[in-house]
Amino acid sequence: MPAKVAINGYGTIGKRVADAVELQDDMDVVGVSKMKPNYEARMAVERGYALYATTKDVLPKFEKAGMKVRGTLDDLLKAADLVVDCTPEESGFKPTYEKAGVKGIWQGGEEHSLTNFSFNAAVNYAEAVGVPYLRVPSCNTTGLIRTLYPLDVHIGVSKVLAVMVRRATDPLDSKKGPINAIEPELEMPSHHGPDVQSVLPNLNIHTIAVKVPTTIMHLHAVSAELKKTVTAKDVLDVWRRIPRIKFFRGAEGVASTAQIMEVARDLSRSRSDLYEIAVWEDGVHVVGNTLYYFQAVHQESDVVPENVDAIRAMHGLEKDGKRSMAKTDKSLGIGGTG
Ligand code: NAD
Repeated sequence: MPAKVAINGYGTIGKRVADAVELQDDMDVVGVSKMKPNYEARMAVERGYALYATTKDVLPKFEKAGMKVRGTLDDLLKAADLVVDCTPEESGFKPTYEKAGVKGIWQGGEEHSLTNFSFNAAVNYAEAVGVPYLRVPSCNTTGLIRTLYPLDVHIGVSKVLAVMVRRATDPLDSKKGPINAIEPELEMPSHHGPDVQSVLPNLNIHTIAVKVPTTIMHLHAVSAELKKTVTAKDVLDVWRRIPRIKFFRGAEGVASTAQIMEVARDLSRSRSDLYEIAVWEDGVHVVGNTLYYFQAVHQESDVVPENVDAIRAMHGLEKDGKRSMAKTDKSLGIGGTG
């Protein structure tokens, strides 16, 4: 029986997770819930999703907007095995899910302590099989784990410094900045390092973050001290085994995140999403035992395949993480030319 999946919060992440779930043959979206009858709610209906109002008190707003809903989140949860919570951080739905007896997945805006399980399919899929609650960490954290975990497994990493050049907000947002400004995160380390350690507790990582006025991607400049003497080619050979890493070449004119997103558009995927972490192949250098590289993260979509794998693990649909990832990747065109 396919897993019945509810999506609470149909925004940037929610709509992408919903579409990715619908592409799988072992899970279905039973409905999405919204607080507001806005254009995204209308699009959900147009895409064929059953629409629910999050709470009773917002029902009149949907009525007034002439948007038909099937009931409230409580009704939606009755039809679901599992809910993917894509609401903003600290929206506080855990007691609701507990009461309804459904499993729950949260996103990176939440703290690790909400579920005490931060998930990455490559790292801890097996431990996620059957668990009731977990969190898929943020886009940046997922991006760092994607490249650092295989390096640690195959070569060994003794210390990492990652400088995160962060997009100010998502492309759809016309309210937030910085506008013509660069904003350092004064906390040290930035929250990303401890967040990576919520999945990889033994990785010695320090992160520094700066926000810049761009919306399309994050960029990471990473230096990692390796436990063995290797070449840049050895590092690339490790990463080439990972479909969720995609290579770009400055020598071919991919000078910035703008060209990476142009390639993403040329791939003709849903919403021009780039689920993979983009690594500049000719920006990988090893000096002594220190590896230097740049990677870019499409913040709106890199966590999408992780959410699909998390559903599969939690619902016990597939015990083998590699098989789940291969299935997810095939459905989303990851690792191929599509
Ligand atoms: P979003 O603002 O695009 O969408 C949030 C959705 O939740 C909208 O449908 C909104 O109507 C609804 N909502 C707002 N307040 C609510 C409330 N109090 N109760 C119920 N629903 C409410 O947000 P998003 O960017 O999709 O982020 C969702 C989660 O995903 C956050 O934890 C965020 O940190 C995380 N995340 C975001 C990104 C990104 O780049 N956007 C990347 C990775 C993870």
